[in-house]
Amino acid sequence: MLNGERKISRPLRWAMVGGGRTGQVGYKHRTGALRDNTAFELVAGAFDIDFERGRDFGVNIGVLKDRLYPDYETMFAEEARREDGIEVVSIATPNATHFEICKAALEAGLHVICEKPLFFTTEEAQFVKELAEEKEKIVGVTYGFSGHQLLLQMRAMIEQGKIGDVRVVDLQYTHGFNAADEGDKSNSAQKWRVDPKVAGPSFVLGDLSTHTYYMSQLILPHMKVKKLLCDRQSFVGSRAPLEDNAHVIMHYDNGAVGTMWTSSINAGCMDAQRIRIVGSKASLEWWDSKPNELRYEIQGEPAQTLVRAMPYLDENCQADERLGALHAEGLSESWANIYLKFAMAVDAKERGDEETLRHLVYPDIDAGLEGVRWVENCVRSADNGAVWVDFE
Ligand code: NAD
Repeated sequence: MLNGERKISRPLRWAMVGGGRTGQVGYKHRTGALRDNTAFELVAGAFDIDFERGRDFGVNIGVLKDRLYPDYETMFAEEARREDGIEVVSIATPNATHFEICKAALEAGLHVICEKPLFFTTEEAQFVKELAEEKEKIVGVTYGFSGHQLLLQMRAMIEQGKIGDVRVVDLQYTHGFNAADEGDKSNSAQKWRVDPKVAGPSFVLGDLSTHTYYMSQLILPHMKVKKLLCDRQSFVGSRAPLEDNAHVIMHYDNGAVGTMWTSSINAGCMDAQRIRIVGSKASLEWWDSKPNELRYEIQGEPAQTLVRAMPYLDENCQADERLGALHAEGLSESWANIYLKFAMAVDAKERGDEETLRHLVYPDIDAGLEGVRWVENCVRSADNGAVWVDFE
């Protein structure tokens, strides 16, 4: 169980690019990184495209004025001159900027934590992976709910044969907030999401399904998608060529099959990220709206609900527990868990501790690269008329 005690020798000096006053996701990064004040300290920022607003915001949340910068280039250059300069930077800006900021950060000798979808192309992701290797730096990707410990429970139970052979992987990440085109022109965060120049080659496939796809890989580390078929459409026509709805069918290398439904036009749905793994003997199901519970359904027996924090859970699941039984946990704790693992990864990398890095389960550069590959393959299938394509 986690109680905030240090996992690394001292907090890492951390900065953010984006994620300021008007940013949707910035606060989630800070709740994650600063939850254990033994992991990160926020010492600098280029929080906003508007410098004055970003500086005002930074001062408001307690960052020293002289470490608030007009842009990331100035921040990386100025901080490199300081003995106590930043060591890690998080990137919480719109998708089109991720590649250039990630590259600049690695070239400045920083570890990087970047938002999803990581980049537009696998070439970019491969380039950054090689650059990170050359610079001996960590690149983490913020698939926010992937730090939830019940996903590790699913991984452990499947590994232990508790559901038999995996046959069906049923994935869903949908909501209904874009059922109409309200906000497409007026809400700045929605506006860029339907503009291919800023969002990239997809809307919901990148924005939503990359999370769930990574979570399925975390649960099923030995299964790889062999081929897939994707059908995507824009029910709100002005979003074309980007999709607000997509269905994907997958074939895995072990003979299992899968589906992903991702959508932001699932009218009336507040948020449904659902993962159901069907085996030859039993099924497991986790749903982010009820994150504290895991359904375990053995064929022919009454269904069981496994509850977070209970002693019958696997040790790897218990290790990421924060609040104990009786109290609900959710997204904030999940973000704190992935940020703690980013800190442990950075610390291990700095110490040359490859053994720790091998065993740490967190969304790393390969997870980011896989997310980009996933989107690329889905788009290639859909844009060729919803045909089967080999997963390249
Ligand atoms: P947003 O439009 O709400 O906010 C973007 C912020 O970045 C703004 O504050 C803007 O001023 C700032 N910004 C833009 N360019 C900048 C630059 N060059 N330098 C400094 N600041 C800059 O967007 P958002 O919804 O917060 O999304 C940001 C990223 O986070 C996207 O990649 C998105 O896909 C991702 N996201 C992830 C999650 C998650 O759960 N992991 C949730 C929401 C968004």
